[in-house]
Amino acid sequence: MKYTFVTLFSNLIDGYFKDSILKRAIDKDLLDINYLDPREYSKNKHSKVDDTAVGGGAGMVMNPQPLYDALESLKKKDENVHIIFVTPVAKPFVQNDAKRLATKSHIAFVSGRYEGIDERVIEKYADEVFSIGDYILTGGELASLVICDAVSRNIDGVLGNSDSLTVESFETPLLEAPSFSKPKDYEGLSVPSEYLKGNHSKIRSLKLALSECKTRFFRPEQLLKHRTRKSYEK
Ligand code: SAM
Repeated sequence: MKYTFVTLFSNLIDGYFKDSILKRAIDKDLLDINYLDPREYSKNKHSKVDDTAVGGGAGMVMNPQPLYDALESLKKKDENVHIIFVTPVAKPFVQNDAKRLATKSHIAFVSGRYEGIDERVIEKYADEVFSIGDYILTGGELASLVICDAVSRNIDGVLGNSDSLTVESFETPLLEAPSFSKPKDYEGLSVPSEYLKGNHSKIRSLKLALSECKTRFFRPEQLLKHRTRKSYEK
């Protein structure tokens, strides 16, 4: 998978790929990370990329020209590039999107700054727009990284053990059951005794019950989805 981050602040993104699973994936040529700085395309003599909002309003807005030219050059090099804008004004990004996007060959993430991006750029170039949650970040770099990380886990070969993908939260509507590592007793707290007895069918039933408890507590709407799915399967 090739990723291109369209950003004024590539240094905010770069460090994330210097360690751990994604670094290994880059070393194995499974991921290829690239940057495109709209400022380098600005025709303004001071390389400006923002201006006050037409019609009034607080703050600055990213101008269309540098982004138009940057994205045009990107599309010229690869007409299959899938362009994603991150913005709070969008549908929320979810696990199914991560799985679907993992089959693309080239994704570009466009990060906004200031009060956001001139809407005409989004209308012309967005293949998709995503929000990562109902809150406002100072810029799109974190949102782009969040999506990139979640997508990358679903690319063949990126995770050491691909089994971990199938048992994680959101693979089904239920949240994952609690996990424990060794030792079995720590500071007076023990792992559930059923986990220790080696009866895998009983462990599975207990995990399912614990998953349902967690889901009922944290995400009741997901439990409803789970029950609807189960009644369809009957
Ligand atoms: N004025 C915008 C609004 O109220 O919708 C917020 C702009 S925000 C300060 C600057 C940039 O951060 C946005 O253009 C977007 O790229 C990014 N951003 C902020 N919050 C985000 C979120 N929840 N999801 C995705 N991107 C976000």
